[in-house]
Amino acid sequence: MAVSISEKTAELKLTWLLRQLRNKKGRGTELISLYIPPGRQISEVMTNLREEYGKASNIKSRTTRKNVQDAITKVMQRLKLYDKAPENGLVIFCGAIPRGPPGSEVIEIYDLEPPKPIKLSYYSCDDKFYLDPLLEMVKPQQVIGVILIDNSEATIAKVEGKDVEILGYHTSGVPGKSHKGGQSARRFERLRESVLNDFYKRVGDHANSAFLSLPKLDKIIVGGPGNTKNIFIQGDYLNYQLKSKIAAVVDTSYMEEQGVKEALERAAPKMERIELLEEKKAVQRFLAEIGKDSGLAVYGEEEVKQALQAHKVSRLLISEDISKLRVVVECSSCGYSYETTEEEEKIELFLSKLKSESCPKCKATSLTGTIVGSVLEEFLELAEKAGADVDFISSKSEEGRMLLKGFGGVAAILKV
Ligand SMILES: [Zn+2]
Repeated sequence: MAVSISEKTAELKLTWLLRQLRNKKGRGTELISLYIPPGRQISEVMTNLREEYGKASNIKSRTTRKNVQDAITKVMQRLKLYDKAPENGLVIFCGAIPRGPPGSEVIEIYDLEPPKPIKLSYYSCDDKFYLDPLLEMVKPQQVIGVILIDNSEATIAKVEGKDVEILGYHTSGVPGKSHKGGQSARRFERLRESVLNDFYKRVGDHANSAFLSLPKLDKIIVGGPGNTKNIFIQGDYLNYQLKSKIAAVVDTSYMEEQGVKEALERAAPKMERIELLEEKKAVQRFLAEIGKDSGLAVYGEEEVKQALQAHKVSRLLISEDISKLRVVVECSSCGYSYETTEEEEKIELFLSKLKSESCPKCKATSLTGTIVGSVLEEFLELAEKAGADVDFISSKSEEGRMLLKGFGGVAAILKV
């Protein structure tokens, strides 16, 4: 299944951004969310924002009032960069985020063009950002197939993100074990086996047609209370492509939806290990290139950035926990500005120091800093332009932690 790099990058960026924004809370109702659908006039939005700015003068708390008005001003400044909303519309989040005790708030602004068109025109000022329409856009990364089977019944289900969908339910019609001895018992047993074989075949056929038509199907979990699940897998019922996707075989006591959830829980440790394996492989490949001194591996912000800009990168490895932020420093007296990056944990100190520094151009002490995004986003954008593949690396594996601590969280494997 072909996903264009730009769609994939947009999704990665959105996923990352939503993860960050979900945890941000304002001290008061002072965080602004603005959704502009495609085709909407920016001038109209500006008019609305000026009205909101006026309304904000009625806010009683002096700090909240200032924070809201500062945020609206920032949003309007950002909007000046656009004549009209981009193809899929535009979303802006802006507000004062506390970094410690009262007074430590820093205005942050994030703007993004979503991977799919926005349908609503929306403005809110709340103590949190309004993220629902974007959360809906982030497709679940995995589709998992589940087959639950025992001697009497079977459930076939699809799990997409948090949604469980039952695709089919089958019963075998097999009578319980025979108690009679002798000749009739053997006949009964043969009959039972034939009915069971027929049942496995029906379940297999259904699973094959349901799962082979799911291009995003990633893994399959097989569950059930007894040994039937193993007989079913070992037999010739399930398509070989699907067999190769079986990630876990687990014991479950239930069938239908409850059983599917039980199977997911039981399989979770195994599934995670598999995901981590993929991540490990990516980092190990990078380390192998370093070890061979092949010249095909680079790391560190500057080197990787240069390689991306020169379109030399085949694969970008980037740590999900890279915490450097992009900051725009502006002088309110002369308009001089520059962009820099700073570690998230040092940002408060950096911004407060800025207040006492003098402007390199006009020497006034009127510099302010605004967080405009993250280094991670910047790399994703560069990777997109360079047509490079991207591996998001967590810090859950030893290799992932090594990438973050030992190589600055950014590495690349170059094109041969
Ligand atoms: Zn200045």
